[in-house]
Amino acid sequence: MKIIDQIYLNGRFVTPHGEELFDLINPATEQINARVRLADETDTRHAIAAAKAAFPLMRGASREQRMAWLQRLHDAVKAREEELIATMVAEYGCPQGFAESTVKRSSLVFLQTRDVLARFPFERQIGHARVVMEPLGVVGLITPWNANYGFIATKLSTVIASGSTAVIKPSELSAQQTALFTECLHAAGLPEGAFNIVTGRGDVVGAEITRHPDVAKISFTGSTAVGKTIARGAVETMKRVTLELGGKSANILLDDADLEQAIPLALQVMSWNSGQACIAGTRLLVHENRLDAVKEQILKHIHQLVSGQNVGAAVTARQYQRVQAYIRQGIEEGAQLLCGGEGRPAGMDRGYYVRPTVFVNVRNEMAIAQQEIFGPVLSVITWRDDEEAIKIANDTVYGLQAYVSGKDTRRVRAIAERLIAGRVFINGVYDEPHAPFGGFKQSGLGREFGTFGLEGYLEPKAIMGQ
Ligand code: NAD
Repeated sequence: MKIIDQIYLNGRFVTPHGEELFDLINPATEQINARVRLADETDTRHAIAAAKAAFPLMRGASREQRMAWLQRLHDAVKAREEELIATMVAEYGCPQGFAESTVKRSSLVFLQTRDVLARFPFERQIGHARVVMEPLGVVGLITPWNANYGFIATKLSTVIASGSTAVIKPSELSAQQTALFTECLHAAGLPEGAFNIVTGRGDVVGAEITRHPDVAKISFTGSTAVGKTIARGAVETMKRVTLELGGKSANILLDDADLEQAIPLALQVMSWNSGQACIAGTRLLVHENRLDAVKEQILKHIHQLVSGQNVGAAVTARQYQRVQAYIRQGIEEGAQLLCGGEGRPAGMDRGYYVRPTVFVNVRNEMAIAQQEIFGPVLSVITWRDDEEAIKIANDTVYGLQAYVSGKDTRRVRAIAERLIAGRVFINGVYDEPHAPFGGFKQSGLGREFGTFGLEGYLEPKAIMGQ
């Protein structure tokens, strides 16, 4: 069996001080794929010390030097694209297409951040003050399993662009992907200690990063519950935080929406990454007069979601059980199952595969409409007028993303402006790598990507009297 028993400290691959062994189970086969030796608090402190020692050099590096490093990081990741894709599919049973797009983004983000850096004004004159944007120091990057490479790459690229250094704590569930990704990042030849990677448990390595006085900032992507724990701990040493948390995104279909387009799109966005995406559109808000037509279209198009092909497995047995429990709860609360339901998809006798499931007659106060399920489960909710649609869409503790479809441009735009969400997509899904990404309310704090993302890793200092 494959054993992962190295972490990355100060530019070297070393055996962790931590001794706990953790089994990595392939969710598509339920077989143990590999075993990882987890880092502990001592390893974390070593990583923080290495990052602290490297900070003066990284802070002093010119813009051109940082841009060159970002280019090299891109090249090093791109060079091993095929292996990265295969490892991602093998580690968590996701569809090939999702792995391909994640890996592509993971190399591209280094170039996108390089472009932001090329134009970023680190100095501005404000009246009599010269304002300089300064890097923060050691930044702790704590990431989830659901697109491991992408989160590491996005956060690390911003750290390098800002002139800080990093201690990266990826999810323990992505240890195989992390091991390979670390080899890529190492090959880029950055200064020792510029980034350090310690795979370990959240309540061990993550907690040490949260409490350590030498860590200036934490950038976290993960659940809202853990984000709150980190924010509470971080305040003790006044660490800056960027938090990218959960979501329960609304997808509003106006009564003039073209259902032949809008329903396939709705099924796509509810099942992104097998439903395990913070940005998944898991509440479909439809006009009550169009409910029958919507149901008909869902039943017509649901077959586009094929388990084992474009819908992968839930990440763990625990997550699979959690999704099953939500499906049961939806039924108990009185929602009506339109398709899907409990158990595995027909013809599958192993793997943590969830049946793509659509509920109708959902009320927005039901658990399936309020809580992040993290599986391919869609709740259809009806409204009578635009005011009610907006009210339902915003009636959630989350505010990460929203979707609106309809033909009347002014009406769609007016609704988009009133939705409380970090990103709103109109009549489709789009990519703008420099646009800010992040959430309102309990979906997080701060933004990533583009200049908004970089500013989150910098502190303004006003120098006067010159
Ligand atoms: P999680 O919160 O369980 O874990 C995320 C990371 O935090 C992991 O590395 C974990 O080990 C670590 N962690 C756990 N406990 C910790 C603690 N006490 N202190 C410090 N670190 C700790 O999330 P997950 O299950 O890995 O990912 C799924 C969640 O992530 C979902 O809620 C999803 O919405 C969210 N997510 C958000 C975004 C976004 O950009 N907004 C993107 C992807 C995923």
